[in-house]
Amino acid sequence: MELRKDPITQSWVIQEIGDGAWPKLDGCPLCPGKESYCPQTLYEYPYRHPPWQVRVVPHWRPLYRIEGGVERRGEGMYDKMRSLGAHEIVVEGPEHQLGLSGQSDEHVAQVLRACISRMSDLKKDARFRYLTLFRNQGKAAGQELEHPHSQIAATPFIPRRLVYELRSSLRHYGLKERCLICDLVRQEMMQGVRTVEWDDQFLAFCPFASRVPFETWLLPVNHHHSFEEDLSTWERQLHFARMLRSLLARLERKVPEFHLVLHTAPNVNAKFEKTGQWQTLREDFHWHFEIIPADPNPSKSYSLEEVYYNSLPPEAACEELRKAGNEV
Ligand SMILES: [Zn+2]
Ligand SMILES: [Zn+2]
Ligand SMILES: [Zn+2]
Repeated sequence: MELRKDPITQSWVIQEIGDGAWPKLDGCPLCPGKESYCPQTLYEYPYRHPPWQVRVVPHWRPLYRIEGGVERRGEGMYDKMRSLGAHEIVVEGPEHQLGLSGQSDEHVAQVLRACISRMSDLKKDARFRYLTLFRNQGKAAGQELEHPHSQIAATPFIPRRLVYELRSSLRHYGLKERCLICDLVRQEMMQGVRTVEWDDQFLAFCPFASRVPFETWLLPVNHHHSFEEDLSTWERQLHFARMLRSLLARLERKVPEFHLVLHTAPNVNAKFEKTGQWQTLREDFHWHFEIIPADPNPSKSYSLEEVYYNSLPPEAACEELRKAGNEV
């Protein structure tokens, strides 16, 4: 693998250099009993007290590799670098058929705790500028292994969409000395037409310019820039787990296949960062999860241009998601 930078849009592309084939697998490599597929355990719960309930392992066919340096180099006008980073799989439970929404709140909180622990650990590595936590549910959303799992990727660059968000947040803060997403939360709570579920700590809503039907964001009501730091106590992890599980159950009744991605503050300890670059990050950026269902109308969206066609307005999607909560 190699990372190549598009000189025009400045976005990095992971380029397969080898043959890209998967190794032959005998059964599910994430099920208990198949630990030999990924023998290295990065995290497990309960710790050294089998059987495990949550387990984190390195991806055996990683997009990014942890050894060595980034070796930035040029080829004429082009920039490339080694695909340095970390790519881990968070196995969300021992049961092959049991999805996250079917687990108990406590179990989901343990999964969150595993992610937080791994992310905090990876942040200590000054080579990594950004940590992505994501989950692809369903074939149409790119899920490669059936066993319920999430993935963590640590990269020497900040993904382009995050760069946009950081820039907008900084600009808004520069103008108003307020957090952009805090303003958004206040407006959504006031209007109440796109809010799916909320309490005094977290809010789930369908964003005003949803890209696909049932796009939903889940975030803290009170300002915080970092997911890992905000969810530092068991009480808060459990509270968030309850909300996440309930939201996933609602969504699954409407759209079973979706991407879930965390947007949190970049790693300010990364060695590439210029001093003074993240001066207002703690105040201007607000972490959130984005849940984006697999597009039911891909023919009308030309996503390469980032122009989306959404067949269901977020106000209507919200209405349906509210009702979906009462169908239990
Ligand atoms: Zn399995
Ligand atoms: Zn905020
Ligand atoms: Zn975002």
